[in-house]
Order: sequence, then C-alpha cells, then structure tokens
Amino acid sequence: MTVKSLTAIAAATLMFVSLPASAADIDSYPEYTGPEFQALYEYAVANTLPNLDPPSGRYTITGNQDLDDRIWELAFERGYVLRPTASGELSRVGGVPMQPQAADAWIGLRAEAREAGMGFIVSSAYRSPASQRTQFRSMLDGTSDSAINAALTWYSVPGTSKHHAGYALDFRYASGTFGEFRRTPDYAWLSKGNFAIPKRNGLVPSYPDDIVSQGPRPEPWEFVWIGTGLISCGIPQNVELVVMGPAAAVVSEIESCPGGAEMAVLPRWLGTQVRRA
Ligand SMILES: [Zn+2]
Repeated sequence: MTVKSLTAIAAATLMFVSLPASAADIDSYPEYTGPEFQALYEYAVANTLPNLDPPSGRYTITGNQDLDDRIWELAFERGYVLRPTASGELSRVGGVPMQPQAADAWIGLRAEAREAGMGFIVSSAYRSPASQRTQFRSMLDGTSDSAINAALTWYSVPGTSKHHAGYALDFRYASGTFGEFRRTPDYAWLSKGNFAIPKRNGLVPSYPDDIVSQGPRPEPWEFVWIGTGLISCGIPQNVELVVMGPAAAVVSEIESCPGGAEMAVLPRWLGTQVRRA
C-alpha cells in the first residue's frame, strides 16, 4: 500500500471518527512488540542517529588472549554486537554525559515524571569503552564459561554497550537498585500504554522483554533515544493499523519519516549488517 493511499484512508476515516484529545494524544504512536522496538533501534543506529563513530572492533578485555577470545565468543553467542561510539560534543544533565537529543528527551520526560509524582533519575548514560572494560572486569569472577556467562548476563563487554553511543539512559531511584526498578510505580508509569510516555519523548525500551538473544537479559530500566519521527513511522503494517484509526499526526509524519517515506520500511537484514560492521 502506498503512502498516498494510506493518507486517503486516514482522511476518510477522520471524517467519521473523532476521539477525545487526551486519548488521541496518548495513542498517537504505533504499538510495538519487543523485537520491533529492537528493530527500530537497530534501524536508527544504522540510518538516523547523528554523532556516531562506527564500531572499532574487539577491545582487549582482560589482556589474556585465550580468555578474551572465549569471552568474545560467548558474548556474540548471546547476541551482543559491536556498537558505535559517540562522536562530537555531549551534553550533561545532572552531571551525567549524554547525546544532546537524549538530554532534551530526558528533560522533557523528567518534567512529566515529576508532575506525575515519579522520582526516578538517570544514573548512567554515555559510557566509554574504557570504563565499560573496567566495569566488566570487576564483574568477572573467574575464567570458566559459567563465570563469563554470569558477567555477560548483565554486563556488556567493552565495544558492545549501547551506552557507548550516548543515547541509552539507565533509570533508577536515587537510592534504589536496578533489579527492583520493574516493580516500582515509576516503571508502571513508564510502561503503560505500550510505553506511550517515553515514546512521545522519543525514547523506547532498550532491552525489551520477549527477545531470546539480545546480549543481556531484558533491562526494564534502560531506554534509548531514537526520536519521535522514527517512532511514528515505524513498521509499515503497524503504521497502517494506526492510520486506520484516528491518529492524524502519524499520517503527516509518514511523508517526513527519517530517511523519507521509502525508508519507513524496516529492513529485516539490518541486525546482520550491524554485526558485520
Ligand atoms: Zn544500561
């Protein structure tokens, strides 16, 4: 189906459907499954996110060549991929460095959160491969496969963290732990309506549920900025579902999708391409 015909359907539908402003506001973005959130992020990394340097290959982890080779092997088996790193100037919010777009998104989301009585903070955003190396090494307790896998359950090896790009944000309570974040009212607020509030600030879940192989276990506290344009455009069949409904905003976004209307189609080969990078 072409963009033109989608627009025509939406226009026809809009003549007959009118929803309360608040409902239209919260439902203006397509709903995504975990794998679709992941595909959106991979697409953004490869096509639309600015200020990135390509991955620079495998970093030294422990300095022991055999052990490092085994760690890399197990990391790739789990679905970790080499990730780009931030280039250019980073912003700071509350002392935490992050990409300027992520900073704007966090400031917007924080204002909404505080208004709703939510107190979560960003505890980590940009992280260099060097500090990732330090963190991973401190979590690696032994040289066996089970010790390596225990560390890889939650910690990326240097060069594979989404934090290197500066668009990933870790949320938690000021005095809380990551593990408990899923059970907080803050997470309930963030996740309601298929993450409607993060989405309208350009943010999506970073390691969502229901994905078998994405590196670490699902991390409900981590979100990534990909921009509202891409979130609106998304995947054609989902866009069509929304267009059939009352979301006029989505229709107008289709023609100005990041990369143009043609690029609204998410290439399924993208994950493979990123791995090859
Ligand atoms: Zn994180």
